[in-house]
Amino acid sequence: DLQLSDRVQQIKPSPTLAVTNRAAELRAAGKDIIGLGAGEPDFDTPEHIKQAAIDAINNGFTKYTAVDGTPALKQAIIDKFKRDQGLDYQANQILVSCGGKQSFFNLALALLNPGDEVVIPAPYWVSYPDMVKIAEGVPVVIETDQASRFKITPEQLQQAITAKTRLVVLNSPSNPSGVAYTESELKALAEVLLQHPQVLIATDDMYEHILWAEGGFHNIVTVCPELYERTLVMNGVSKAYSMTGWRIGYVGGPAKLVGAMKKIQSQSTSNPTSIAQVAATAALNGDQTCVADMLKAFKQRHDYVVAALNELPGVECINSDGTFYAFPSFKGAMQAAGIDSDVDFAEKLLNEAEVALVPGSAFGTPGHMRLSYATSMEVLENAIARLKAALS
Ligand code: PLP
Repeated sequence: DLQLSDRVQQIKPSPTLAVTNRAAELRAAGKDIIGLGAGEPDFDTPEHIKQAAIDAINNGFTKYTAVDGTPALKQAIIDKFKRDQGLDYQANQILVSCGGKQSFFNLALALLNPGDEVVIPAPYWVSYPDMVKIAEGVPVVIETDQASRFKITPEQLQQAITAKTRLVVLNSPSNPSGVAYTESELKALAEVLLQHPQVLIATDDMYEHILWAEGGFHNIVTVCPELYERTLVMNGVSKAYSMTGWRIGYVGGPAKLVGAMKKIQSQSTSNPTSIAQVAATAALNGDQTCVADMLKAFKQRHDYVVAALNELPGVECINSDGTFYAFPSFKGAMQAAGIDSDVDFAEKLLNEAEVALVPGSAFGTPGHMRLSYATSMEVLENAIARLKAALS
């Protein structure tokens, strides 16, 4: 019998991809499944970005680049951090990776020793705890609920930090809850973090540009510049520019840590795809109208979906501040059906309504479902009608 590593046996495959696969299986079997599980914008990558990549191929820009990214892309990232967040970085503080996912993976492997704790507020992006486990760290999850808009309080953060805490992960706007911390909420969290100088902070700003809440975008270091030395600012082009398949993410942070992450990457993938780096450079340096256009569409769908979900029996949904996710509670509907497990309930909805949603337990918050509205209004209306029929 083939013996696998303890490491791989501790982790689970990405549950969001699992739902997508299950929906694909049913579709292949002839069922008309509406998939609202995927975490990617439905728009095509904007034309000027695609053209930059085509030109790169035609110009023969198809060889290895520097491990940490081309000088042109790193400069575009430095300019972006300055433009959008007023943050200053040197080239040795920037690392370009194969998606935000690899950025976090590099971070976990470069920072954590066995037993080191990483504080992760729930609901969380599914990959954080498993990547921490791969690095033999220990995820310490802070639970939240709908009543607190899925946000942690300074008291909760204070309680979660121990002598073993190495990293705190913040993700705002959040996948899957769609909520964003306000400037004053972040300041209150920063007060706690200032008392624990041994703790680093990862702010995952992947949805920075998909935000409509009043007050605009803030992260822990824009509200508290004293934390600059120990904050890793993580971002990427996947969501903002509808470039999920191109696999480009990037970070800005302390040179020593970023250098260590680069060393990890140099022994795994080396550089991200040369062509995709040219496309990402065009995205960051180019006209940003495409971002605003997508935001407008997401907001419109959000307003429809949240109102429609709240009409469903046993379903309750708060307004998101951004992203393209709603994270409604299905607790009432589950109780009415006599089903305790949200995984079982998602399976029931897949079979009976033929709508694929991701159960909240995948994100550490059972009883909810993540619904992605990165799809057309027509599909969304159809999905809501089916859910209504199944729940009534
Ligand atoms: N961070 C968050 C919060 C995400 O939702 C995602 C994608 O789902 C990522 C990071 C990683 O994005 P990618 O690896 O596609 O750049």
